[in-house]
Amino acid sequence: MDYPGNLFVVAAPSGAGKSSLVKALLEIDSQLQLSVSHTTRAPRGQEKHGRDYFFTSQPEFDAMVAGNAFVEWAHVHGQRYGTSKKAIEDRIAQGADVILEIDYQGALQITQAFANAVLIFILPPSWEELRSRLERRGEDPTDVIEMRLKNASEEMAQAHKFDFVIINELFERAVFDLKAIVHAQRLRYAAQRRTRAATFESLNIP
Ligand code: 5GP
Repeated sequence: MDYPGNLFVVAAPSGAGKSSLVKALLEIDSQLQLSVSHTTRAPRGQEKHGRDYFFTSQPEFDAMVAGNAFVEWAHVHGQRYGTSKKAIEDRIAQGADVILEIDYQGALQITQAFANAVLIFILPPSWEELRSRLERRGEDPTDVIEMRLKNASEEMAQAHKFDFVIINELFERAVFDLKAIVHAQRLRYAAQRRTRAATFESLNIP
């Protein structure tokens, strides 16, 4: 199925800067909508139901899995996370561009339902930098940092399955790269033909 809206899927190992990059992109691109996932984990800090996540009980999550409500779902750090199929489908069917910020397992499942999804992987510039970002964040004890680094190695081994790779060395540069991918997608023939229909018609292009 070819939808008028674009679907962008961003994955990265924890500490690569995925959330900050997506947040920066959303601030400068009012056409882009962030998909809100369901999770079984509890809210943290200022997180709000419906804005950051749909915080879902285990039985509710089970029922959604059984009812095929998720286009993808995965276990991440001991909790379950999933993306509602209908929420995405409704929006891209109406021509909106949607961005998902999910883990790599989920990202790879997305293309089974949405073949034209654009998969973007964010890499840190080095192991040293990834470790120091995780340490600077100050959120996790040493053993959790070690576990995240071990997981990062497995996750980064999947990067070759993605369409695009951004190395988040200089933040502003990485935002520019992300913006360039989104922009290029909007310049594809089919997208231009749809959004600039009057121009094409006035130029007698069928
Ligand atoms: P956090 O609990 O820190 O918000 O997220 C933990 C991880 O789960 C992050 O890598 C995040 O991208 C991922 N995640 C968030 N939502 C989803 C989702 O709907 N599906 C999948 N597969 N992963 C998700």
